[in-house]
Amino acid sequence: MTADPAAPPAAPAPQPTVVDVLIPVAVDTAYSYRVPKGLALAPGDFVVVPLGTRETLGVVWDARGAGGDNLKQVLSRVDWPPVRAPLRGFVDWLAAWTLSPRGMVLRMAVRAPEFAGAEPVRFGLRRAGPPPARLTPARGRVMGVFDAAEGEAVLTKRALAEAAGCSPGVIDGLVDEGTLETVALPPDPLPPAPDPEAGTVALDPAQAEAAARLAERAAERRFTVTLLEGVTGSGKTETYFEAVAAALRAGRQTLILLPEIALTAQFLDRFAARFGTRPSEWHSGVSVRRRARAWSGIASGDIKVVAGARSSLFLPFADLGLIVVDEEHEAAYKQDDGVSYHARDMAVMRGRFEEAAVVLASATPSLETRVNAETGRYGHVRLDARYAGRSLPALAAIDLRRDAPPRGRWIAPKLVEAVAETVAAGRQALLFLNRRGYAPLTLCRSCGHRFTCGQCSAWMVEHRFRGALMCHHCGHVERKPGHCPRCGEVDALVACGPGVERIAEEAAALFPDARQLVLSSDMPGGTERLRQELDAVARGEVDIVVGTQLVAKGHNFPNLTLAGIIDADVGLANGDPRAAERTFQLLQQVTGRAGRGEAPGRALIQTFQPDHPVMRALLTGDVERFYRTEIEARQQAGLPPFGRLAALIVSGTDRTAVETHARALARAAYGITGGDPLALAPGDAPRIEVFGPAEAPIAMIRGRYRFRLLVKAPRSADLQGCLRAILAAGPKATGSLRVAVDVEPQSFL
Ligand code: ADP
Ligand code: ZN
Repeated sequence: MTADPAAPPAAPAPQPTVVDVLIPVAVDTAYSYRVPKGLALAPGDFVVVPLGTRETLGVVWDARGAGGDNLKQVLSRVDWPPVRAPLRGFVDWLAAWTLSPRGMVLRMAVRAPEFAGAEPVRFGLRRAGPPPARLTPARGRVMGVFDAAEGEAVLTKRALAEAAGCSPGVIDGLVDEGTLETVALPPDPLPPAPDPEAGTVALDPAQAEAAARLAERAAERRFTVTLLEGVTGSGKTETYFEAVAAALRAGRQTLILLPEIALTAQFLDRFAARFGTRPSEWHSGVSVRRRARAWSGIASGDIKVVAGARSSLFLPFADLGLIVVDEEHEAAYKQDDGVSYHARDMAVMRGRFEEAAVVLASATPSLETRVNAETGRYGHVRLDARYAGRSLPALAAIDLRRDAPPRGRWIAPKLVEAVAETVAAGRQALLFLNRRGYAPLTLCRSCGHRFTCGQCSAWMVEHRFRGALMCHHCGHVERKPGHCPRCGEVDALVACGPGVERIAEEAAALFPDARQLVLSSDMPGGTERLRQELDAVARGEVDIVVGTQLVAKGHNFPNLTLAGIIDADVGLANGDPRAAERTFQLLQQVTGRAGRGEAPGRALIQTFQPDHPVMRALLTGDVERFYRTEIEARQQAGLPPFGRLAALIVSGTDRTAVETHARALARAAYGITGGDPLALAPGDAPRIEVFGPAEAPIAMIRGRYRFRLLVKAPRSADLQGCLRAILAAGPKATGSLRVAVDVEPQSFL
């Protein structure tokens, strides 16, 4: 900001004598404390304050001039970078929007002090005095390590114990006797800063034009939102990198949100190819120590680019100039436990508080974003063709009513043939089914018994790889028995329907010589193994990939030329208003994995409904028409983004109590309307409607029964105010009862 020379000099802010301190726990109120004489405090400062009988960390949220004689005193100020005003504003706003206690949202921003603090100091050991008087063999080995390392060797305790093959106790003993001493290790150096001029990528004309528009916005110091809509393989990443370069040149920081950051080693390499170094990563797979280091580098402004999961939205950026939300349509951006929020929407809000440019990138934008772009609320930049003149895959349906596979098999003859051709040509094929495990249902042929989870209203899914039955809602695992637990019949259990493991089994039988890989989030080996496997596919080391939605997320497999969809109808029948949109996005992304390299690709879609609007849109490529129809349907129903929705989910261990409570909440809602069961606002105020309560489609999860109320409001109405009024007028949730608020729910399970 530039100072106005005509304005009188600002008076120095008076030293506050009372501060309101927000504590990162599930409480909404900021508590007042007296400021001790001589302590200078400003909003955003970290402080230690007394709370009940203990001392706790908090953040000064507000400062006032007077009073406070009978208040408790702030104990001390903590010398950490303060929580800046834009982040405080964001925390307040997000808490109000999601109806969450402010302290709970603050907790997401300051995490535990382990991140919030300056990074923890690590200690090492070095030789300080003469050899110990009593030299045991273990002690001798420790001394040997130092003798072998010339000069001033400093080793961490763990490294030393490992090298000497001794217990930590042996080392402690040597420290006590003065032979070794403990010294602080210097902090790890920060990685080199990304260099906007390091790049080697030449953009094609369409990319260059799009990049110029994004870069222009990233260089401005003002809040903007732009949708970067580009077909799969159009080079959206290369294009938005130019916006990152512009932010770097302007000296501002960038946050790139990725839906599956832990799996995207490829992305980090591409970033390094353009900017000479990898970005800082932020997700739960990064060690606490490295995150602590990143936290302080981000707060000081030394770290310029962060690639992270949705939790990185709460990082303490010193000067955030650009936020990119890659694959902005991804359902993985919705967080449902604790505070329910959608990271894409929150990224837009954070951008507003920071006066930053926001770029939403997708080949299949969410309807909300699409509408915002069409109405001019967001900018709209498009890439309508693939990079380097490569064509989009040729799509065809396999009508399962006519061309079904033989009984007990799932891959139709036409698809088998296509896989054979692809593999014979030295290319890769993808078989996609969005269902983990071997079979979604196991039943007894003799008595009809179905295996269900005791804690959830859901079937147990067989995972043959692990030899177990598993509940996908609570994670409960049990061994598959050899006989039916109800009638005792032996060898009568049958697997019904396919999961990816079963498709892999079939493919292995059909193509015994092909190299095969199952890619699913629940295979043994975890994230690291998945990362390696995705890289192996990208390097062409696998012929047939069988995968779940995990493979749909932005990966680049240059040698993959065939995508086969085993069951395109999976997600269409779940009664969710977003079912069509979600299925379209998912299938478009999966088919978009084919033909991204030099060889053209094709996709075969197995479906019982080739005339369904989703299939028509995919097969004809008439995406505009699909969006049109979907948008009109939403508009007519007053659904988002034309109206606003919130769900109140009542849960508890006693079904009757849950239902009674949900009914009472509904009555409270109707009471506010003065008798009209639907309209919550009297007169000509906007109409707010309440639906339910109804038992949730998944009636029980983790032993808790669930009922839902739905509140629907026009855009102009105060939805949050209405929800607060309902909660205040309804009975208190006691015992095991809980009411969760989900503003803009993404699914209705
Ligand atoms: P999208 O994210 O739009 O699906 P990508 O950014 O993954 O597309 O790009 C697809 C492929 O094309 C990648 O291998 C990428 O490296 C390559 N590519 C895109 N643009 C360029 C370019 N200008 N120069 C070189 N390679 C490019
Ligand atoms: Zn369960």
